[in-house]
Amino acid sequence: MALPKLNVPQYTIELPSTGEQLNMRPYLVKEEKVLMIALESNDAMQISKAVRNIIMSCYNIDSLDKLTVFDIEYLFLMLRAKSVGEKMNLQIKCNDEGCGKLTPITIDVADVEIINKNQDRNILLDEKSGIGVVMNYPSMEMIANLDVEKLNSSEGMMDIIVESIDSIYDEDNVYDTATETKEELDSFIENLSGEQYKKITDFLRNVPAVYYKSDFDCICGKKQDIELRGLNSFFT
Ligand SMILES: [Zn+2]
Repeated sequence: MALPKLNVPQYTIELPSTGEQLNMRPYLVKEEKVLMIALESNDAMQISKAVRNIIMSCYNIDSLDKLTVFDIEYLFLMLRAKSVGEKMNLQIKCNDEGCGKLTPITIDVADVEIINKNQDRNILLDEKSGIGVVMNYPSMEMIANLDVEKLNSSEGMMDIIVESIDSIYDEDNVYDTATETKEELDSFIENLSGEQYKKITDFLRNVPAVYYKSDFDCICGKKQDIELRGLNSFFT
């Protein structure tokens, strides 16, 4: 005899970057299994793939290509909260020299926010000439296509910058980077002053991310700050 089918609850979650309302259902046991295996692997690529797959399965969304990293991180945290509970248990290590003890901490997902959400994507590089750039937030795709070594190198940073510039403007024109060659863009970046280059790297270092801040008293008696930024920091 056919067994009864359970009703799956539905939730509405706001997409942080656009405010669009998305429908979501919690993940199922079979989906959680795949996710747990990925998380236990500690492999960034495998975790990212599993996170993306489970978001695609549980949200009414056609593609993740246009989503920012902080969108994906936020959607995943909300999905996890509605699926397994609003509380997350973490072990936080004491920073005090000679202590290093782990303290179990419980985080309420409702207290997780998005930091730098209203970051200005327009960066005026030169006031006199009116030249500036409009940035895109790096997508998960973009970050997944760069390996860790590259990300920490100046060449890797250069690639992220080139891919993150949406348009370049001066007082008369807007230049869509999609229609410019990589050589032209590289040359544009290479000819920036150190100060102008720093404006762009500062943007990339301060892109919006899921964020949690609190403190706790370690068993050793020292007060410790907790600062979690980015999805990975919630799962280590
Ligand atoms: Zn301690």
